[in-house]
Amino acid sequence: MKTWGLTFILGLLILLLGCYSEDKDVILSPDNGLHYGLYPNDRAKNDSVSRYLAYGAYILVQPNGSYTLSFAVDSSFLPPVLQLHRITLSENKTRYFSKRVRSLKPVEKEGRWIYSFICEESDPIMWATTLLGEGDTYYQGKVNNVFFEGDGPYSKSFSLNLVVTGLFEETADGLNEKRLASKMLAAFRKSYEGITIDTIYIRHAENHPTATGRYPADEPWLAGKSSDDVMLSELGGWTEPGVYEALDLVLVHRIDQNGILGYSPLFGENLGGGEHSTVVLGVYMKKGNSEEHLHSDRIIETAIHETGHFFGLRHTTSTLEDMRALNDYSSFEDGIEDTEWCEKILFYGLSQKGASKMSDVFVRRPFVPKIYAGVFDFDGCPDASNIMFPYVTSSSPDGFSDGQLDLVRRNLSLFLH
Ligand SMILES: [Zn+2]
Repeated sequence: MKTWGLTFILGLLILLLGCYSEDKDVILSPDNGLHYGLYPNDRAKNDSVSRYLAYGAYILVQPNGSYTLSFAVDSSFLPPVLQLHRITLSENKTRYFSKRVRSLKPVEKEGRWIYSFICEESDPIMWATTLLGEGDTYYQGKVNNVFFEGDGPYSKSFSLNLVVTGLFEETADGLNEKRLASKMLAAFRKSYEGITIDTIYIRHAENHPTATGRYPADEPWLAGKSSDDVMLSELGGWTEPGVYEALDLVLVHRIDQNGILGYSPLFGENLGGGEHSTVVLGVYMKKGNSEEHLHSDRIIETAIHETGHFFGLRHTTSTLEDMRALNDYSSFEDGIEDTEWCEKILFYGLSQKGASKMSDVFVRRPFVPKIYAGVFDFDGCPDASNIMFPYVTSSSPDGFSDGQLDLVRRNLSLFLH
């Protein structure tokens, strides 16, 4: 009996220990199409992301970036575990594969659950979230006011490459490429306070190290028509030593879409070439069957605006097309405290229903360009003089607010350069 009793107790112990040491590590993969995502330091409302954070929302992370993801505590639930998964896309980008890379518990502070991590990837990459709740299933509590912050170790300086593509003669006010470049550099330095713009290099697409022969110097280049890739991604990355840190501003004859002056990704990915590394600018703007030759002031203003998008700034007020492109109607303004927004734009969007759909933010799942909206009067908008106002107005822009510059500085520090 004694032996049996002992065996029983031992057996029970082993069973219990077994239970405790049993691998409770549940991997909860993203289970939807990753339609919603966050990029660092964005202050917009992002309700759609909040809604899908538990089931799979993407985040864009950079090598050596220090990040926090946080949202409001739901006191009816225990804090969920944040799982982060590295995402790789299939070659035709129709499917993705995920591999869990982090499993994090939050710290609670001022009514928020805060998850901190450092990204140890070697390249910019997409990760996705899931939230593990009680019972090893997707967290069922409310997720509100999600915020994704990041800071990186890289310098607050960068250079510009003005990549002259195809035939370029002069701007409407008679500037050649050299004079345009030096005026552009001065304007960037004035607008991007607290950031050092080291220099501007003039490049010619026909001399690109890997795209030789595809961009003849004697032909006006129409972005979106002369080749399919409106962003001309293959013209990013001029790899001579020491110029890796340059942002590639691709200057074309025009963008072949009515009223579009420039294009940028909303939050680019890198300063080293490839997809999401270029900003596109036209010397002309398409206007129906004709085109308007642009003054250097307008080209430069567009370059500064698009570069704002590249480093993660939204329009002060979202256009209907921006919201559509980002799949989120809660983010009708940029959420930055010291910028205004304008109700008129929402009405303008609705009044244009059925008209051509344009946004200059080429979102990752594509975002838009600076838009020429014709005669509509936006000058009464309190944000009309901000450089990130979505439309061209008759007043010249004042520049960025402190809140916008802070966001750009933080994001620039995340970009490997
Ligand atoms: Zn824009």
